[in-house]
Amino acid sequence: MNLSPLYKLTGQTAPPEARDADMEKLHRAAGKDWPQLLADPDQLAVFRAVLACTETRRAGRRPEYYTQASECKDCGWVWLWPGAPTRVLGCPWCFNRASGLPIPRPPIFNSTNSKEINNE
Ligand SMILES: [Zn+2]
Repeated sequence: MNLSPLYKLTGQTAPPEARDADMEKLHRAAGKDWPQLLADPDQLAVFRAVLACTETRRAGRRPEYYTQASECKDCGWVWLWPGAPTRVLGCPWCFNRASGLPIPRPPIFNSTNSKEINNE
């Protein structure tokens, strides 16, 4: 079996091809922080989750746990995480807006006539 250096470093038992591709992607994204992340499995798990969330947003898809509609000053109505403020001055979708990437929109209700509006 041919194991990459990353696979040997982590000592993980998952199939090396899939695990190595994931670790190499995390390594590229972490940059100079990689040794610190590699030494702390909890930090590495959080970093992996944050990177997956960012990739989902950049693909124009709502991360699964973004279930609350909030209004961003610049983006309009967007999906954010539960407990996020109802109105925000900036949001994670601002990157998509500035880069011309799609932003999935929550359906909103106009309080004066209760008519559902698709805010796209
Ligand atoms: Zn925004």
